[in-house]
Amino acid sequence: LKATFWGVRGSIPVPGPETARYGGNTLCVEITDGENDPLILDAGTGCWLLGKSLQASGASRADLLLTHFHLDHVGGFPFLMPLFSSSFQLRVMVPEIFGQSAKDYFARFIGGVFHPLSLPGFPASIEFVPVHLGSSFACGTYQIRTAKLNHPGGAYAFRIEKGGHSIAYVSDTAPLAEVGEGVAAGKPPTADEQQLIELMNGVDMVIFDCFFYSAEEYLEKRSWGHSYPDYAVAMTAAAGARSLYLYHHAQDANDEFLDRLAARWATHKDPVVHVAQEGGTVDLEG
Ligand SMILES: [Zn+2]
Ligand SMILES: [Zn+2]
Repeated sequence: LKATFWGVRGSIPVPGPETARYGGNTLCVEITDGENDPLILDAGTGCWLLGKSLQASGASRADLLLTHFHLDHVGGFPFLMPLFSSSFQLRVMVPEIFGQSAKDYFARFIGGVFHPLSLPGFPASIEFVPVHLGSSFACGTYQIRTAKLNHPGGAYAFRIEKGGHSIAYVSDTAPLAEVGEGVAAGKPPTADEQQLIELMNGVDMVIFDCFFYSAEEYLEKRSWGHSYPDYAVAMTAAAGARSLYLYHHAQDANDEFLDRLAARWATHKDPVVHVAQEGGTVDLEG
């Protein structure tokens, strides 16, 4: 199992010299086993790079798992180049909180006003499938599980398993406990934390929303629905997972800032902490 980061930025794309190394594209991760159809996690502007890679590899099918519909997770969707090919098939797996309206939301977003094409105007075949909370289902050759996150409007976390390897994708979420409670406070997990910890249990790789730098920053902006590195580390450790990728970087977090973040966690064990970088691939077999 391999994971490639095509976009690691939250909120808004921030291209430019200050973000050249970690990347400015919004959220998109590709999971592949090198043989079967790829699985895409979120469709931010990183989709543009992913689409070119899919075209180069001749992929004819993919599944897209969407955590929620905020722009940094869907803004690249109409620029996924294989959608302009009639031989390409995309299945979009959508949290059931959006219900039967999921396709309608997309039809408004891609309806000829905010983008020149409307959804039915794309040559590719695009199917929308609701994903139920707490369910376990097969997506191509990958086994998927879901858990609830703490984010305005709702969002789901995903666990992806294949051939004895596993990845937990946790974006976007605020801590699932009140201040002074739960794993970050050194106390037993809350019920919501426990569900997410079970989803993350023993995975090889955790990808976790770390939009904020610190607990203090989180407390100033609690309603935004994001986490900070110490919380991601506490949850990953509680789940007994080996390696953590800090993800969903703030638009103000330039390369220098993210280097300092990486340096702060460089000697940490259980989990080993990485800062996700656009273009980076993690090979779980290697
Ligand atoms: Zn986001
Ligand atoms: Zn969001």
